[in-house]
Order: sequence, then structure tokens, then C-alpha cells
Amino acid sequence: MKKTVRCSAFSLLELIAVVTIVGVIAWIVVARFSTTAFDARRSACHTNRGDIELEVQRWFRDHGTWPSSNLSDIGADKSYFPEGLPTCPVDGSAYAIDPATHLVVGHDHATP
Ligand SMILES: [Zn+2]
Repeated sequence: MKKTVRCSAFSLLELIAVVTIVGVIAWIVVARFSTTAFDARRSACHTNRGDIELEVQRWFRDHGTWPSSNLSDIGADKSYFPEGLPTCPVDGSAYAIDPATHLVVGHDHATP
């Protein structure tokens, strides 16, 4: 009488399948977190633009003139930006306003 012995170890194909699935899951998680970090920086830039445009309006109400387009005068005044003029969290560039519309120009960050 022949007795069959069941092998309880994993086969090579099972190991390859598990490693492949774990790799795909890890890739998805890394891609998800990197996109989220960029979205957070882009959102912070959007908030900075809004803050700057509000302070530019307040400068106009206080002084009767618009600040310079490179924001050097309003950025130097600590009553408007106590922590200094912010820079873009996405690319580190300085903000500037359009002299005609008095809105922040640029910073339309596209998805990477
Ligand atoms: Zn920006």
C-alpha cells in the first residue's frame, strides 16, 4: 500500500505570486502618497495666493495705492506679513502680482 505524503511548503509559483502582489500593492501606496504630498503643497500655494491678495487689498485700503508688483514694500511691512512674505511651497519661487488686476500671477501648478 502506497502512502501519499502532502507537502505543506509553498511552491515557487505561489511565492512568485505573493511577491508580485505585494510589489504591486507597495507601488500603489507609494504613488498614492507622493501624489497626496504634491496636492498638499499645491493647496498651500493656493492658500498663500489668497492670503497675499487679501493683504494687497488691505494695503490699498490703508495707503490708497497698490503695493509694488514684486511685493517688496508690503513684504517688508511686518503688520501685513509678520512671518515674512511667503514663498511658493511647490517650487520655492517668490510671488508677484499683476499691476493691472492686483492678483497673484502664475502658480497654476499642474499635476506632475
Ligand atoms: Zn506656487
